[in-house]
Amino acid sequence: MESVRTVCPYCGVGCGLEVVKGPAGSKVRGDRAHPSSQGMVCVKGATILESVDRDRLLYPMLRASLDAEFQRVSWDEAFDAIVSRIQAVLATQGPDGICMYGSGQFVTEDYYTAQKLIKGCLGTNNFDANSRLCMSSAVSGYIRSFGSDGPPCSYDDLELTDCLFAIGTNTAECHPIVFNRFRKHHRANPGKVRLIVADPRCTETGQVADLHLPIRPGTDIDLLNGIAHLLLRWDRIDRAYIDTHTNGFAAYEGIVRQYSPDWVADRCGISAELIETAARIWAESDRVLSLWSMGINQSSEGTAKVRSIINLHLLTGQIGKPGAGPFSLTGQPNAMGGREAGGLSRLLPGYRLVTNSQHRAEVEQFWQIPAGRISPHTGRSAWEIVEGLETGDVGLLWIAATNPAVSFPDLNRTKAAFARSPFTIYQESYHPTETTAFAHLLLPATQWSEKTGTMTNSERFVTLSQGFQAPPGEAREDWAIFAEVGRRLGFREQFWFESSADVYQEFVQLTRDRPCDMTGLTHDRLRTQGPLQWPYPDSTLPEGSQPAKRLYTDGRFNTADGRAQFIAVHSRGLAEPPDAAYPLVLTVGRLYGHWHTQTRTGRIDKIKKMHPHPFIEIHPFDAVPLEIGEGDWVAVRSRRGECQFRAKVTKAIAPGTVFVPMHWGGLWDDHAEANSLTHPEACPDSYEPELKACAVQLAKLDRP
Ligand code: SF4
Repeated sequence: MESVRTVCPYCGVGCGLEVVKGPAGSKVRGDRAHPSSQGMVCVKGATILESVDRDRLLYPMLRASLDAEFQRVSWDEAFDAIVSRIQAVLATQGPDGICMYGSGQFVTEDYYTAQKLIKGCLGTNNFDANSRLCMSSAVSGYIRSFGSDGPPCSYDDLELTDCLFAIGTNTAECHPIVFNRFRKHHRANPGKVRLIVADPRCTETGQVADLHLPIRPGTDIDLLNGIAHLLLRWDRIDRAYIDTHTNGFAAYEGIVRQYSPDWVADRCGISAELIETAARIWAESDRVLSLWSMGINQSSEGTAKVRSIINLHLLTGQIGKPGAGPFSLTGQPNAMGGREAGGLSRLLPGYRLVTNSQHRAEVEQFWQIPAGRISPHTGRSAWEIVEGLETGDVGLLWIAATNPAVSFPDLNRTKAAFARSPFTIYQESYHPTETTAFAHLLLPATQWSEKTGTMTNSERFVTLSQGFQAPPGEAREDWAIFAEVGRRLGFREQFWFESSADVYQEFVQLTRDRPCDMTGLTHDRLRTQGPLQWPYPDSTLPEGSQPAKRLYTDGRFNTADGRAQFIAVHSRGLAEPPDAAYPLVLTVGRLYGHWHTQTRTGRIDKIKKMHPHPFIEIHPFDAVPLEIGEGDWVAVRSRRGECQFRAKVTKAIAPGTVFVPMHWGGLWDDHAEANSLTHPEACPDSYEPELKACAVQLAKLDRP
């Protein structure tokens, strides 16, 4: 029996897995030694091995046009096609004609090598990732408020807090092991440890809350400012903390003084008593921990929402101490590693920004590329890639480890744009996905069980994800594909790596003296010591030691003067509010068993039985006038598309709001692509689209 320690490749909780290989095959179980998950796993982690050998892409395949058949080609032919296309686009459109769209499924080594190729060698910042659709508002919020990205909290805080304030997150279903850790603490301390949930749905998280606030979609800032208003009115704020560690309080105070409970109640669609109860719990708690995820981030004012949560923590000094702080939960397993490696179109490795000339110069020097090679302009965000395809400004699109033909907003427009791409490379482990239909060249990639690399979870723990199987067919590691393209383009010195350990060794040097310093980490150290949390500088730490669990414990932030920054902001509300023609707000979300677009979980029998089909949740108040009953088929129309779902009539959703899961793409159901309804209006700071809310109308269908 041989056992391999690795990490779950699904969500940002980052649970440790132990794969035990025996004569009858491999089995997976929770790794009891992993500090984040302590041996726990959810159904996704427990069934992961069932997906590894299903419907794999085995060989490179090429076709001349989207209506032609794919033909198997050699890797040499595939690389020739990529290099000649890149050179042609560079000659005719320049570097910005090239775009890559990657994924939080990448290990950090994949992310880093892609940044070096696209931003360093080719000279365009057109690298974006599915993290754009997931948590880029959290990145922007942390940067604006604290001077740097980086969730400041630890999962241990879940067991030390007096009040968990969960807003825009169904943690019980979407980050189940995080929730399990809190729930044990919550159950063991009834009445002493309180859970507040703000969500238009009474989700599984809301069902066990001490206080559920079913606010209208788009009114989060009103609620947060309303709580701040009461804390100010009651003088339950930390003036010493504000005076010593923050800027901008006077303007913030001027704004939130306007948010009386009655006014906020009217905006949010809940009673003033509920708002006062929430504020009272916050005021009475010694330690308050906020959690949020896509319900906050996927918004046309996502950055302002994140900063409004942070405001409350600055106002009350609830940060930098055990059991407290503003804690963004990441969606993808290595979204955090992507942030560290510079995996969004405004970022460079080591929490640097492309718009900062000193940052660019540091990276250029380190990469040994000519000064000025890294563009000073922010590259295309996910949706701007679609717009670039529409205008013809994008001549080559390279998609890797993600399925945007299901996950992008306004899917009908997205697909029409993808169909116009002159040349699309699709690097993926599975075949087919919905995105395969838009590819000219398919590249088979190894997946989690066949590659070794690092992943960072939401609490900054870095785990070595260790491969334990040979790849099928001719699949190659993502970083190795990027490196080989780089070498064939003439950048031999830049892509000297022979292993992912080599890549990591180089990458961590770019984090030296940065907020995410992890110069003390190597693959070997992670293999022998297990997961380690950053910051982890190389100079000070003896074997087995662990630096601070939390950031900002001394109240010094990464701004020029060391102070955090309040934001004073009014809510703008939804980008597409309901009206007479489209009177309901659609919100989309995730179910416990499925992962995103089902590329893996749609191939696992147990999970398919758990969630056999998509549905729409409708409050009786909205269902009865339309004569919609339980199980009836319902057409859901927005200004962009139509879907059909079976109705679940339930009081778990607020009146005026309907909910559908986002997991079903065209491969699994012809009529249930939730994102054919959503719109691309995005936060002006984070460019994260408002996937969480659009206006729809319903009609009952006469269908068996
Ligand atoms: S909680 Fe997330 S990381 Fe943990 S087992 Fe489930 S899907 Fe995997």
